[in-house]
Order: sequence, then structure tokens, then C-alpha cells
Amino acid sequence: MDRPRFVIESAEAEQMAKQSGQTVLQLLPSLVKSAQTLARPPISNYHVGAVGMGPSGRIFFGVNLEFPGLPLNQSVHAEQFLITNLSLNAEPRLRYLAVSAAPCGHCRQFLQELRGASDVKILITSSEDEKENKINNNCNDKDQEFTPLSHFLPHRFGPDDLLEKDVPLLLEPHRNGLSFCNDLCNGKINGVDDLKHAAVDAANMSHAPYSGCPSGMALLDVEGKIYKGSYMESAAYNPSLPPAQAALVAYVAGGGGGGYERIVGAVLVEKADAVIKQEHTSRLLLQCISPKCEFKVFHCTKTC
Ligand SMILES: [Zn+2]
Repeated sequence: MDRPRFVIESAEAEQMAKQSGQTVLQLLPSLVKSAQTLARPPISNYHVGAVGMGPSGRIFFGVNLEFPGLPLNQSVHAEQFLITNLSLNAEPRLRYLAVSAAPCGHCRQFLQELRGASDVKILITSSEDEKENKINNNCNDKDQEFTPLSHFLPHRFGPDDLLEKDVPLLLEPHRNGLSFCNDLCNGKINGVDDLKHAAVDAANMSHAPYSGCPSGMALLDVEGKIYKGSYMESAAYNPSLPPAQAALVAYVAGGGGGGYERIVGAVLVEKADAVIKQEHTSRLLLQCISPKCEFKVFHCTKTC
């Protein structure tokens, strides 16, 4: 069985476009259905696929994730998955997004954390399907038009309302300067060391300008592979993506398609004096979806 892929390198994207007689941009909506097949929505069974491209020319996939047994607000929306995927692959901007259904209000808000958010161009493929049905067998795809995010969310509330101009935004380099507290975190604990370091790396890349409480999580699967995810905040708070969800995105995108029960270890790193804490909800989530997972929390201090 082919491993699911969530990133297409730019050279391959160009080759695929050439073969199908399209531009790379025209390729994006044609990949949305493939992305939808990778979604994991066991509650709604509503498969959302998001396909995005940034300045590198690479193509990224995002899908929705739902977790039975937990509140709905633990779900990951396809656009959030996509942004996390960009972050994991150090793509600095999102320029184009093709998505299977209109972005919900939550995602329109989450996207505001990006530099140049208003100019992110969006194409909703479900409306393309309707158009295709109407014009039946018309293969001319020049009608496909991307519309700026500012059209979907005018009168935005976002980072500009709360942050100074020089604060890095989501997908921009973050250096949170966290390191382990000596009293709590010294010493090796049965192979947890690599996970700890991956988690602190993730915490140092976390986007948490509103609370000042960056955090990161690293997951370990049965094959010994590590997946890390950084907490990402929204100016509107609720659309924020917790570190456990970000790490699960890394697992789904890079884990070969296996179930969450294959996750056997997890480390969360957050600040010792954090005003907001991820520990309790992360534990609940992992107990529910990865019952064999050994979960540890380590606290950090800001050293610079
Ligand atoms: Zn959404």
C-alpha cells in the first residue's frame, strides 16, 4: 500500500502540471479530492481536503481530524492541518489554498495569524463541482478563480489589533529561548531524552504571543519514530491549535497512515509558570486515542 503523502516537492508538482497540461496553480483544485481521502473524521464522516502552496512551489495537503470520546473542540480542521504542515516543513507563507468546502469562521480567523493573511487566495472546489455539473463536460478550467481571504473575512480582527509590528507571526521564525529547569528535568528517563529535546525544539518554535506561554509536544510511535508539534495561538484565542493536535498532524502526515494506537510515548514541554497550561487536556486526549501512550510533562524556563 502506498504511504499517504502530504507534501509534493516543487519539481514533482511542475512535472505533474506539465503532464496534465495545467499550470501548477491549476493543479491545486484537482488535488483536493485526493486530500479528502486522507481525512480522519469518524464523527461527522465529512471529509475535508485543503491543498495549499507557498513561495517554494511545494504543494501541501491538509485534512480534518476528529476524535470520538472527546469534545468537538479537540478536532483539527483541514486548514489548520495545512498550516501546521507548512510549519513542519518551514514554508514561510501560504499564497494559495484550494479547499473542498467553504472555510468555516474558525479557520478564517485562524488564517489571520499569517503574514499577508488578507491576500491568501482561496478557491472552494465544491462550488467548482456545481459549476462543472451545470456546464456538463466542459473541460475549460479557466473559470477557476481564487478569491482573497479578505473577501471571506472583511473587517478582520487579528494580530494587528494586539501585537507590536515586530512580533513574528505564524510560520515566521520563532526563538522562544526555552530550556529545561535543572531541578525537574535533569537525568535520563528510559529513552525519553530524544523526545524531551524534540518537545523543547517544538516549544521554541511555538507561536504564543498572546499568552506568552509557548509549548511543544513530541510523540513516539511503535517504530521509534518521533513527531513534534508546536502550539499555535490565535488572536481570538479559541481557534488556537494545542501542541498535542499539532504533533498529531505531524504523525498523520508522516506516520505512514497508521492509527493513533501506534503512539506509545509523548512528552509535553511548557513553561513552569505558564498562565495557560496544556498538560491536562493533552493527557485526556492521549488517554482517549492512544491508551498505551506513556505521557510525561517537563517544565522549562525562558533563558534569553
Ligand atoms: Zn474550519
